[in-house]
Amino acid sequence: MSGPAPADAALGGEPAGQQPLEVLEGKEAQVGSARVRRALPLRRRRTVGAWCFADHLGPMAGPDQGLDIGPHPHTGLATVTWLLEGELLHRDSLGSEQPVAPGQLNLMHAGRGVSHAEEQVRPGGRMHGAQLWVAQPEATRHGDGGFEHHGDLPQAEVPGGVATVLIGALAGATSPARADTPLLGADLALQAATSTWGLEPSYEHALVVLDGAVVVDDTEVVPGQLAHLGTGRQELVLTADAPARVLLLGGEPFEAPLVMWWNWVGRTREEMVEAHRAWAQDDGRFGRVDSRLPRIPAPNPPWSGQ
Ligand code: MN
Repeated sequence: MSGPAPADAALGGEPAGQQPLEVLEGKEAQVGSARVRRALPLRRRRTVGAWCFADHLGPMAGPDQGLDIGPHPHTGLATVTWLLEGELLHRDSLGSEQPVAPGQLNLMHAGRGVSHAEEQVRPGGRMHGAQLWVAQPEATRHGDGGFEHHGDLPQAEVPGGVATVLIGALAGATSPARADTPLLGADLALQAATSTWGLEPSYEHALVVLDGAVVVDDTEVVPGQLAHLGTGRQELVLTADAPARVLLLGGEPFEAPLVMWWNWVGRTREEMVEAHRAWAQDDGRFGRVDSRLPRIPAPNPPWSGQ
């Protein structure tokens, strides 16, 4: 460090080089029988680093509220499953069969094509968590799929909070999980206190509150919102009046504009058309999943003229 930054010199009062906080309202969406809060993508914010999709699920319970999701395909992205309550069984076309419980990470890279199913282990039981996607870069998005389970992720403690690092590094803890681009995903368990987290200033960052509320830059952030922190931020100061759980997402701003449709991430409309054809015709590109749940058909695409 070379002396104090001119903290109040920038427009809006941010330290030099730091973008102002932008709090966006997420949208409600339906996944299976569950209503979810979608923080990404939003019309005004498609990505945060390579993070391109973020659903907050629950908390929910009951026979009509569940997370059974039958076999469906992915391309060009990694799926991240992170639970605060409940348990899911992941099955995929690579042959993986892996339960995931709170504190554990399931991470599946689709590459050119993988299909998977997620079955709720205790139907009707409590479920609370997040499903996120990471866009794969050009170097890996046409490659083979891969699946990882991390049952014991590193944690870092600062006054006022504990971080579990899913992907990347935070506060001295580094996750062993695969990251194809410079990336951060961390779960912050906050006490009723103020906590300070050092950030990589070249990354773009955002917060998704999963439980409780936090104050950042004098602004309260609650579940259902995306708090975009932008780039250039050296430090994140969070204040909670009661225990809270927050996902901190970040990464190097992503290389290319994405085309996303249904469960596919690519770069062109033609790639979406081809993935749709391959799934509809079950031509082998997405393999087979051994699941008790029925295969999910792709919806009618907007380019089909129907
Ligand atoms: Mn999926």
